[in-house]
Amino acid sequence: MVKAVVGANWGDEGKGKITDMLGEKADIIVRFQGGANAGHTIVNDYGKFALHTLPSGVFYNHTTSIIGNGVALNIPVLFNEVRSIVDKGVPEPKILVSDRAQIVMSYHILFDQYEEERLGGKSFGSTKSGIAPFYSDKYAKIGFQVSELFGDEDSLRDKISRVIASKNTMLAHLYKKPLLKEEEIFDELMEYKEMVAPYVCDVSLYLWNALKDGKEILLEGQLGSLKDPDHGIYPMVTSSSTLAAYGAIGAGIPPYEIRQIITVCKAYSSAVGAGVFVSEIFGDEADELRRRGGDGGEYGATTGRPRRMGWFDCVASKYGCRMQGTTDVAFTVLDVLGYLDEIPVCVGYEIDGKVTTDFPTTSLLEKAKPVYEVLPGWKDQCADIRGIRTYEELPENCRRYVEFVEQQIGFPITMISNGPERKDIIYRSSSLK
Ligand code: GDP
Repeated sequence: MVKAVVGANWGDEGKGKITDMLGEKADIIVRFQGGANAGHTIVNDYGKFALHTLPSGVFYNHTTSIIGNGVALNIPVLFNEVRSIVDKGVPEPKILVSDRAQIVMSYHILFDQYEEERLGGKSFGSTKSGIAPFYSDKYAKIGFQVSELFGDEDSLRDKISRVIASKNTMLAHLYKKPLLKEEEIFDELMEYKEMVAPYVCDVSLYLWNALKDGKEILLEGQLGSLKDPDHGIYPMVTSSSTLAAYGAIGAGIPPYEIRQIITVCKAYSSAVGAGVFVSEIFGDEADELRRRGGDGGEYGATTGRPRRMGWFDCVASKYGCRMQGTTDVAFTVLDVLGYLDEIPVCVGYEIDGKVTTDFPTTSLLEKAKPVYEVLPGWKDQCADIRGIRTYEELPENCRRYVEFVEQQIGFPITMISNGPERKDIIYRSSSLK
C-alpha cells in the first residue's frame, strides 16, 4: 500500500513532521520530485534537523529511504546530509538512490545564479540551487543520469563536450561569465560516482517487489499544489510536479497503488519567493505571525529567508486539495494561532467585481482581492493548545475554526497538528468521510 504526503499550498505546510510521524509505520519512504531547494524541519529525539534531500524517514532504523528518479539529485548535498545526521548520533540510514535519477551539476547552480542576476527585479526569487536549469536540461535531454556514471567513459566524455559547447555559448554571449572545461566536468562526475556508488539501485524494481511483499510505502512531496508547473501559479512555480499523481512517475510505481493522499494544510498561510499571494498580510500583523509561526518562526529551512505571511486561504486550499486528490487533510500549526482575538479567513476572491471560490489562472489571480470572514479566536478559552490529545478537549472556538475550514475546502480534516513534535497530533473522524 502506498500513501502520499503532499502540500496543499505554497510549501512549508509541515509535511516533514507528518511524514516523520507516519514513518513509524512505513517500511519505505520515497522522495519523488524536487531537489535541495526546499527543506523540511523535523524535531525528534535526536534533535532538530533541516533536511533538504534526504526523505524524512532517515531517523527510523526500520525504514529504507529512497531518492526516486524524479528528484533533482545534488550528490554532495546528499552526502553531506547523511554525514551530518550520523554525526549527531542518528544510526547510519539505509538509503537507495535511483539509477535513473539525474544529477544536479555545479554549472546548473551557476546558471541559476546568472539567470536571476540577468533578470534583476523580474527574477523568480529562486533559491539558486540549480533546480530550473537542471529540469530544463533533463527535458532538453542533455542531463546526466546516475547510470551514465557507471557506463563507458569515452561516451561520457563525448557527451560532456557536446553539452558544454551549448553551455559555453550562453556563458560567453548571454552571461559574460567564465567558460566550462571538459576535464573539470568529467572530474566532477567521477567524484559524484564515488560518493553515490554505495546507494545506487534499480528503484522501480525494488518498489515493485516491495509492493508484492505487502510493504508500506510513503511518498514524500516537496512544496505544494500552488507551486506545480501545470496547476500552480505559473510562472512563479517550481520546475517539477508537486502533485501526488507525479509520485507514480517520480518513484516508478503503478498509479493505482497510491491509496491514501494526505494533503498537509497549514492553519495560516506562508509563501516564499515571488508570485501572487491573495491573503498576504504585512507590517506588524505579519511580523507577529512570522515570529510566532512554525517552530521558531517562519524562516526558510534552506535559505533562512523570512517567509511571506497571510491568513488561511480557503480558495487556494480547496483547489490545492482537489489537485492533489486528497483523501485526508492534515491541518498543521494550529497551536500558533492561540494569541489572536479574532482570526480572518479568506473565503473568496473578488475579481472584476465578482466573488468566486474557484482558484483562477495567474492573470486573473493577479486581480483577485481577498474576501474575509472573521472567526473568534480561542485566546480566552485556552490560548495554548499544545499538549491536548483529543479533539473534544480543544477549545470550542478552535474546533469551530477547524470545522469552518473543513466545510469551506470540502475535504476531511482527519489529523490536527498542535505542535512540532511527533506526539503533537490529534486524530479526528470527519463527517465528510
Ligand atoms: P515542510 O517543508 O512542509 O515540511 O514544512 P517546514 O518544515 O518548512 O515548516 C514547518 C515548520 O513548522 C517546521 O519548523 C516544523 O517543525 C513546524 N511544525 C510542523 N507542525 C507544527 C505544528 O503543528 N505546530 C508548530 N508550532 N510547528 C509545527
